[in-house]
Amino acid sequence: MNPNEHIAKKSLGQNFLIDKNIILKIIKYIDPKMDETIVEIGPGLGALTNYLAESVNNLLLIEYDTELAKLLKNKYLESENVSVIEGDILKVDWEQFLPIDKMIGNLPYNISSQIIIKMFQYRERIKSSLITIQKEFAERLVAKPRSKKYGILSVYSKLYCDAKLLYKIPNQVFRPIPKVESAVVELKFHKKLKYKIDNLDFFHKIIRTAFNQRRKQLKNSLGVFYKEEYKDKFDWKLRAEAIDLDGYYELYKLFS
Ligand code: SAM
Repeated sequence: MNPNEHIAKKSLGQNFLIDKNIILKIIKYIDPKMDETIVEIGPGLGALTNYLAESVNNLLLIEYDTELAKLLKNKYLESENVSVIEGDILKVDWEQFLPIDKMIGNLPYNISSQIIIKMFQYRERIKSSLITIQKEFAERLVAKPRSKKYGILSVYSKLYCDAKLLYKIPNQVFRPIPKVESAVVELKFHKKLKYKIDNLDFFHKIIRTAFNQRRKQLKNSLGVFYKEEYKDKFDWKLRAEAIDLDGYYELYKLFS
């Protein structure tokens, strides 16, 4: 198939980057080095891939769309530094390619939170990530306490990485043009967490429970964990959105 004949699949979040200046800007942010191993999620028609293939010794492409994966396999048949896996990034075994230096991509927006949560799980073996995601979602990743956008993902993100919103991208640079705006975000993962948390699932659960009823005071939203003996050990009148990462760690220690 000729790449020009490809019809974008909405179900796979296919919005292809077509603006050379933006592509070059993203490549600059990725800052590929020859000796790095880079994994690209959803290379699509190769907007970023074309530049990366010339810049790193080890590039792995993971593409779910059978037609596009086939195109990429043909294109890079002779390139020893490029390999292609046809598969779903949420289902392929990440152990086969870790550790890596960078995980990058213009992500399919419908699954970007699941992809990021998976990156958090494997953070010890991924140095950093440079991704394009929905702008709203990017703002939530970097949101500070007491702001409207501050939520579960903002707290997770502070625990697992330093997240930076680098650049907002206009809709017009994609084909088809998406309904939502986009942003480029950098995640630098913490190899070692700031706190010793033996039960991360429980830590996550406290955060999720608090935000499930974000308008309520913690005494109520965290009612399932609260006991009278904790009365003077925290300000229970506060709401989920006022608590920073340190605060959630305090709650975790209290409830553990
Ligand atoms: N990188 C290309 C670009 O910037 O023009 C395409 C980006 S497009 C927003 C998202 C890409 O991810 C598409 O190529 C799509 O087929 C692919 N994709 C969608 N779901 C995927 C999944 N679960 N695993 C891997 N790739 C996926």
